Amino acid sequence: MPRVNKSFVLILLPFVFVWPASAANDTAHDEHLAAKYGLRVPPASREIPPAPDWIRQAEIVSSSAAVWEGYEFLLKETPVTRLVRARSGHTRMRLSDYYPEEKVSGLDAESVSGILLLSHVPHSADAFRLAHEHGIKAIPYLHFMCVHTNYADQDIFYFEHPEILMKDDKGHWVHTGMDGSDRLHRFRTCANSPSYWKLSLAYVKKMMEWGADGVFIDNAGRRPACFATQYNSVRNPEFEPYVHEHLFPDASHDYAWGRFLEAIRTLVKSHGDDKIVVLNSGIGDPWQSTGDCCMWESFIYSWAWEGRRHTWSDVKAKAKANQWYLDAGRRIVALAFLEPKRHDMKNNSFWAFACARLVDFVLWVNLDHTEVEFLNRVHLGRGLESVQETEQVAHRFFENGLIVLNDSLRDGEITIRVADGFAGTQLLDLYDGKATVPVDEGMLKVRVPSKMARIFVAHATE
Ligand SMILES: [Zn+2]
Repeated sequence: MPRVNKSFVLILLPFVFVWPASAANDTAHDEHLAAKYGLRVPPASREIPPAPDWIRQAEIVSSSAAVWEGYEFLLKETPVTRLVRARSGHTRMRLSDYYPEEKVSGLDAESVSGILLLSHVPHSADAFRLAHEHGIKAIPYLHFMCVHTNYADQDIFYFEHPEILMKDDKGHWVHTGMDGSDRLHRFRTCANSPSYWKLSLAYVKKMMEWGADGVFIDNAGRRPACFATQYNSVRNPEFEPYVHEHLFPDASHDYAWGRFLEAIRTLVKSHGDDKIVVLNSGIGDPWQSTGDCCMWESFIYSWAWEGRRHTWSDVKAKAKANQWYLDAGRRIVALAFLEPKRHDMKNNSFWAFACARLVDFVLWVNLDHTEVEFLNRVHLGRGLESVQETEQVAHRFFENGLIVLNDSLRDGEITIRVADGFAGTQLLDLYDGKATVPVDEGMLKVRVPSKMARIFVAHATE
């Protein structure tokens, strides 16, 4: 026994003394740089407070562009000064570039009635105002992985700020690779650049001051290493002299990205505890908890494949892996890409809704102007029990209804015991729209075909 204790001490000691020192180096930011750019770097958060109540109560959120009336994305010609290659050498010239301006004149509120949150809304104070007039929260789509070069992207003309662009190990700028193509007009940005922090936080602040209820941040995944600080001695005549700096000099790009997201979260929350950050995806990344919600993009259905890809078992596995996040009061928003031209809207939206709600995910789907727009207005409320499952038929009672999902290969009529606390005496079958199911001595019987789902609401709601 004494020998065991001895080796235990020997193994632990190096960790006790070495780890804190190296961790301190990795995570310390350069205070001189922070001061130079006027940045207040919030401390790395260790707590996971719950998301605001309103998003925890959401059942469907949406990002439909079709609900906006009179939407225009304009590129306003803007005079700029650039260093341009002339016959010999580079010369400063006055050129025209573009500054985006988004306009919107109205919101088709009927088509999103019942929806608590619209994302990807036009970057316009009018969009936030219109949404609020109809009792809807609204957040803009933002991205911080790269900068588009066709116009001032999120208020950044890339040629005015070459210091925010990352470089690979050979000193090359990095294009955005996407869908198998190398996007020429997008350059990867460095989340460790204090200049990029300053410019990005200013844009988030502008959105919040325009009335945003938070932000949606795309491309929240891993960041490749940035080598740009090693190439500062190379003078590029296409730009005024500049230096690429790292706010966290000894940290990885991934680490800096996590802290960058923390800084955005802190700024968003400074506008009110009810404001939110939604990440795409962040799920499984070290910075997942900087999001009130993380998006599962292409949940079961996608533009990239036909039919259903993820199974009911896949959905349960993802929920299990994220139970800590859900238990902390955060949400997974599950984006199912469904469109009338390609999908059986009714059966598939019922299936997606059932899969999401059974595991307490929020379904993100655009159902406006479809035959199932009414699902936007379904509010089942809090779950009264965990998911019950027998022979591949799952069900769960909620305050205002019941979901039944038949994952088996047989059509089934199943008998279900009503959960404690459920007050309804009969349920309306939303799929049929007219049929009611009576509760008889605490039991009810429903029919659900193979690989289909049904939603029942307490009849008193009609
Ligand atoms: Zn960098």
